[in-house]
Amino acid sequence: MNKIVVLPGDGIGEEVTDWGVKVLEYIGERFGADFTFEYGLIGHSAIKATGDPLPAETLLKCRSAKAVLLGAVGHPMYDNDPSIKVRPEQGLLRIRKALGLYTNIRPIKIFDELISASSIKAEILHGSDILFLRELTGGIYFGNRGTTEDGLKAFDTMEYSRLEVERIAEKAFEAAMKRNKKLHSVDKANVLDSSKLWRKIVQEMSAKYPEVEVIHMYIDNAAMQLIRDPRQFDVVLTGNMFGDILTDAASQISGSLGLLPSASIGNEVGIFEPIHGSAPDIAGKNIANPMATILSCALLLDLAFDMKDEADCIIKAIDDVLKDGFRTRDIADENTPKSMILGTDEIGAEVMRALEVRLNQSVMI
Ligand code: NAD
Repeated sequence: MNKIVVLPGDGIGEEVTDWGVKVLEYIGERFGADFTFEYGLIGHSAIKATGDPLPAETLLKCRSAKAVLLGAVGHPMYDNDPSIKVRPEQGLLRIRKALGLYTNIRPIKIFDELISASSIKAEILHGSDILFLRELTGGIYFGNRGTTEDGLKAFDTMEYSRLEVERIAEKAFEAAMKRNKKLHSVDKANVLDSSKLWRKIVQEMSAKYPEVEVIHMYIDNAAMQLIRDPRQFDVVLTGNMFGDILTDAASQISGSLGLLPSASIGNEVGIFEPIHGSAPDIAGKNIANPMATILSCALLLDLAFDMKDEADCIIKAIDDVLKDGFRTRDIADENTPKSMILGTDEIGAEVMRALEVRLNQSVMI
């Protein structure tokens, strides 16, 4: 069963997932992976068609798939009117919860060609390559909360159970074993009880992975170290809120939203999606950067189909296109000649061409 469900969603979602599917189709044909694709609705487009941002049919399709490729959800009509009850992002939160996607994975890698696009100095960034694993279904975003009737006091609760910490820590240790065997676990164990438990469990589990060097780091220090010297990090394990903040800060290392992929995984099917939104300001204009989605497809191949070499080949193909000097508008700078600034379809075609060249030369790594 090699079924991939595609949920383009809204705005540029359709334009970018089109290129993700083309890349996956091509890899499937070349390697006999026999992928089949089924489409579903989510977000504003699902509300328009069915009144529900996550129709039951979409969820059913996803449950029977090996992986889900998602574009983005969101439409300006909701952003300007917070009183609308049925909203696109509810589809996203519900699908994550329904599929038990407790681990969010975000690789942050700097492409050398784009180092100047970052607001951080090139010599600090050069060679940065970090894999974040953020807990996604627990912690303070899901704890008990409330506001007193007089509105003078409000509270949120940060809770973690042993099971919640163990299952994501295991994924982080496994990821570290496949990379440089270095794991930073981020917490606030000098203050928070939930962090003390988090640290205790990670320490206990490290006995099972003696080859992995574990560094416990407080969140405030981690935020500073990330900007000071990002190269010291390899795999980073965090709770939900700390990871939310840290990964957004880390996105600046790469310099562009259009280049950052993500995966959300649990014990069932995983969702693979770019971290950017539906970008209504550029939707339908053939200027969106499809690379974050194509890189999400690389993650999909690696994690859902165990096709790591093919995934690496896609990453290298994107690198080739950037080295050739091609850019979409979001990653171009004042030195980019106009003729090298391509549209979504044109840069997608360049990535396909680079992929083909690499595969024909059998340069897989
Ligand atoms: P956004 O990520 O959609 O856009 C932010 C800026 O980045 C815009 O200027 C946009 O043009 C640009 N951009 C984003 N992706 C790009 C790409 N692939 N290529 C080139 N430029 C790109 O964030 P926003 O503007 O805050 O939100 C727009 C809508 O998306 C909202 O409705 C929001 O709720 C939704 N949203 C959805 C997700 C998701 O589906 N995971 C994430 C964030 C925001």
